[in-house]
Amino acid sequence: MSSARPPLADPRHDAARRRLAAVPWPAAVLAALERLRTGGHQAWLVGGTVRDALLGRESDDTLDVATDLLPAAVMERFERVEPTGLAHGTVLVLLDALRLECTTFRREGAYRDARHPDHVEFTREPLEDLARRDFTVNALAFDPLSGVLLDPHGGLEDLERRRLRAVGDPVARFREDALRPLRAARFAATLELEPDPATRAALGRVADRARLVAVERVREELMKLLRARAPSTGIELLREAGLLELWMPELQRCFGVPQNRYHAHDVYLHALATCDAAPAGKDAVRWAALLHDLGKPDTRVERRGEGTFYDHQFVGAELAGVLLERLRFPGELRARIVHLVREHMFDYRPRWGDAALRRWLRRVGEDAVADLFDLRIADVLGTGLESAFPAGLEQMRARIMRLVAEEHALSVRDLVLDGHDVMRVLGTGPGPRVRAALEALLEEVLDDPSRNTRERLLARLEAWRSEAERAADA
Ligand code: ATP
Ligand code: MG
Repeated sequence: MSSARPPLADPRHDAARRRLAAVPWPAAVLAALERLRTGGHQAWLVGGTVRDALLGRESDDTLDVATDLLPAAVMERFERVEPTGLAHGTVLVLLDALRLECTTFRREGAYRDARHPDHVEFTREPLEDLARRDFTVNALAFDPLSGVLLDPHGGLEDLERRRLRAVGDPVARFREDALRPLRAARFAATLELEPDPATRAALGRVADRARLVAVERVREELMKLLRARAPSTGIELLREAGLLELWMPELQRCFGVPQNRYHAHDVYLHALATCDAAPAGKDAVRWAALLHDLGKPDTRVERRGEGTFYDHQFVGAELAGVLLERLRFPGELRARIVHLVREHMFDYRPRWGDAALRRWLRRVGEDAVADLFDLRIADVLGTGLESAFPAGLEQMRARIMRLVAEEHALSVRDLVLDGHDVMRVLGTGPGPRVRAALEALLEEVLDDPSRNTRERLLARLEAWRSEAERAADA
């Protein structure tokens, strides 16, 4: 355990205290803290709430609060509560637009399963509670009512020096809860902190325990990591620690796979650079960027001293699906990412007519178009070469967006007639012929959207019927 500092009246804390005091904490939060404190109890803002306020980062709408009140007592003091993690002493208090994650001061017992302490012991001592927290920058407590700030592990100085340091002995702390190395990678990337040497070295000492961590927690950390400005720093930490191998072996296998003259990086570093270049707010694009070339190691064929990777997008889509399934991604998000990986190789020639563009648009789907362009642009930026940006891509994007805006028919559902019309005119019942006829009509409409009128389409059906009748008579 690092040496505890006097919690109060450290002059170096003045600036931080002023900064925290100047935050416009919502009145509802201050009122809730007052209510927790009634009867001589304690309530502090802690964790990410204090850290992010000091960094001037926007936090989400869940504030971290620590108190000496037991969970049952917390629940009694508020009308709207959810006992989200009672066993660990956590109660979610619902205020109007905000939520407080209220955790009773804890000191922890031994860990057997590398994720949950065997027992949780509550304490009335805030410093004991701060000592069980993962990183010094997360082990700060602030009371906005009195302006008192607790920093027993040097978190303020670490924040100032942009250093990520475990509280206490990093090896022991990581081995007792193997989610912490992942949180370290996440914080290093999202907060742009540099792990201190001992913390960094300890990251590689938990791979044998990491399997015990619940995969949902792993996924949540990775999702947060991929929202960083540059996720690559965190992913590199995971690779160095042997943890990438564990959770994303398909990506690990790209490491050191050489490419060709179109790339400055190997496949792995290109994936990281593409991920960094993709828009941070779009989860599906970020993940697709990270995974888009997973098929390259399996499809690599050397021609004249250079790598070729024919059809890697199809192999990659399969592998991305496997990886995302392992991490138990929600089905819809997984499907979107896999689709982007499969379609990421689209090509464009300016001489393509609108019909060709409409066919492409139909295949990839209107919903995926904007994401695909984001991915493609990130892919180009991720080559690490200064090569001229493909002008055609912008032209294609502009043309596609115009086609989308024109709302032309792109699927049989957009045709102005339906299966009933087809059955009536062709005189057939339901079956594959109906679908085939609709598809054929759509092909004609894709060539020329002005053909999508009832009159024209019915006339085409009539013509097909007479043709079929003549063929039958012959
Ligand atoms: P964010 O909310 O932005 O994801 P956070 O640091 O607030 O980041 P939470 O999961 O909300 O993360 O946890 C709140 C606080 O609880 C942390 O700041 C840290 O002090 C403590 N904490 C969370 N998870 C752990 C853990 N696995 N080991 C030790 N302390 C933890
Ligand atoms: Mg938090």
